[in-house]
Amino acid sequence: MKKWERFEGFLTRGDWHVHTNYVEGENSVLEMCEQAEKNGLQLIAFTEHVRKELDYDFNTLVRDIEGARKKFPKLKILTGCEAKILVGGGIDVSDDVLELCDIVIASFHGFYHGKEEHVQALEKTLKNPEVDIWGHPATMFRNCELERKEMEDIIKLCMKNSVLIEKNLRPKYEPPPGFLELVEKTGAKTVISSDAHSVWELRKII
Ligand SMILES: [Zn+2]
Ligand SMILES: [Zn+2]
Repeated sequence: MKKWERFEGFLTRGDWHVHTNYVEGENSVLEMCEQAEKNGLQLIAFTEHVRKELDYDFNTLVRDIEGARKKFPKLKILTGCEAKILVGGGIDVSDDVLELCDIVIASFHGFYHGKEEHVQALEKTLKNPEVDIWGHPATMFRNCELERKEMEDIIKLCMKNSVLIEKNLRPKYEPPPGFLELVEKTGAKTVISSDAHSVWELRKII
């Protein structure tokens, strides 16, 4: 069972990919939670950027999240992270951080390699039991063009490994035409996320 499945009931009523002022976002954990309630969300997942070596204290972020849980008891607040997919298929996060996370997003960020490297790295990432969500698939397709059959194989691999495919709401992460239709046709599970870096970008469901 994947970690995200414990929160499956919140899949359509949450925002599963949110950043804070710990890295490059504008707002604090508390400010994001306050806005999440105003926006009608029932779940918010703090998925801050991580690396194996961090230049901020993840434990302090976790303490902020614990404080927010007390202040917003009706909101489900998850600790997560967004880890970069590495060449060869590892993810750039330490075991210490992984242990603290309720959910883990794996994304391509600045992965300047060819199609073969992308596919190989993604396949290995999807098989990693720690990975819950494939973040903004658009950043893969931007750098390599896949045939329909190749896309289908990847979508099926997501399904086989119970990895959610992210529907990222940022316009710059719009996937190529046909991809989301194919996801739907194949029957893979998806999650809608804002990837918000400020309160103004949080998902709104009211
Ligand atoms: Zn990202
Ligand atoms: Zn992000």
